[in-house]
Amino acid sequence: MPHEAPGDPQRSAGGSLAGVERIIGRLGGPDARTPTAPGPTLIVVAGQHGNEPSGVHAALRVLKSLETAAQRDPACFRGELLAVAGNVPALRSGVRFIDADLNRLWTPAEIDQSFARTDRGDPVSTEQQQQRELAEEITDAVLRSRGSTVLLDLHTTSAASRPFLAVEDIVRVRELARAIPVTAVLGLEAMIRGILPDWFNTVGDAAMIFEAGQHDDPASIERHEAAIWLLLAEIGAIERAAFSERLARARATLEPFAAGLPRMLEARARHSVSPEDGFKMRKGFSNFHAVQRGELLAGDTTGTIRAPMSGWLFMPLYQPQGEDGFFIARRASRIFMRLSKLLRPLKLHKLIHLLPGVAKSEAPVDAFVVNPRVARLLAHEVFAMLGYRRYREHGGIGVFGKTAEDMHRAWYALPEELRRPRRDQSRSS
Ligand SMILES: [Zn+2]
Repeated sequence: MPHEAPGDPQRSAGGSLAGVERIIGRLGGPDARTPTAPGPTLIVVAGQHGNEPSGVHAALRVLKSLETAAQRDPACFRGELLAVAGNVPALRSGVRFIDADLNRLWTPAEIDQSFARTDRGDPVSTEQQQQRELAEEITDAVLRSRGSTVLLDLHTTSAASRPFLAVEDIVRVRELARAIPVTAVLGLEAMIRGILPDWFNTVGDAAMIFEAGQHDDPASIERHEAAIWLLLAEIGAIERAAFSERLARARATLEPFAAGLPRMLEARARHSVSPEDGFKMRKGFSNFHAVQRGELLAGDTTGTIRAPMSGWLFMPLYQPQGEDGFFIARRASRIFMRLSKLLRPLKLHKLIHLLPGVAKSEAPVDAFVVNPRVARLLAHEVFAMLGYRRYREHGGIGVFGKTAEDMHRAWYALPEELRRPRRDQSRSS
């Protein structure tokens, strides 16, 4: 693949993305025009949601300054920086998606389907085509990498927001997230099926989501840019000394937003919505608004919707398209974070079924069935500590697992009368 110049300068001013292409820009790599020393690969994905142009502009800016710096001093940059556009047709039209949300399609089953259908030439949705192309660019970058491979998925929100990270609860990912000085929310992948980092963490080394602020706020571009620079330094792609001023500016851009919030939060509740719900968030909530259990948050055709627990409200939905009404996050326990780092290599999950009210799933998967009345107090903490963050409960039975596929199979291995869906249950967790 040829070296790509970082786009046209008109777009880097934060203007229209009507002409955006899949490859926003690429610097370095084994076949680069400007040779770079072997090193880590950073893949920046921008605009998986087409109404979130900020990441594209930020990537263009970083590529431009990095290219100038590397021309002056080739030793200041090693490895590769690849910036790709997520949903190209949606970015060109400025809408979140055309047929389906691209950032919900990254499950093994959906990926297989996108590849199988495009291979056969069967009709596909816009986003299945996008997924195929994007997956190929990302996989190619991993295959040609001469070092570690890290993916940064750039997003913005419909409501005003402090910037934050959404990080999968994997020790190496959590450690890497510390490079970006904002609050990291753990466990989002356990509530939203099929997000890109969930897949990348199985093909590359580490992936995370960075949410910069409101969609069209120019400050979101600054913050996206800051996150890219800090991550480039953290993985060793750029010489810190050569970019000391830029990195100091990046930290100064983000650090003020870490004030007054725990550095690590854990997503604990999600309110899912469908178009026919007529969901409407009450006015005046911003991201990380502190809420009390029972507080009135929104309304829909069935009545009022209240906070299921106290905590920090996040990603309240103030746009027409979307499946997540809001989330609630709580402080991630510091002692459990530390313990999990120590305990996970010991394969303690082999003993977890000895806890009261806990049994291994009868399906051949890595999941556990619990009696919530017996196991509730301890279970959430112990399972989370060991990386089982997905939880589903109905009536007298609950299931903990690590992946959506395991959860699905464990759940359907249960006797049918235990898992009959009930609308209020499936909506609150
Ligand atoms: Zn997004």
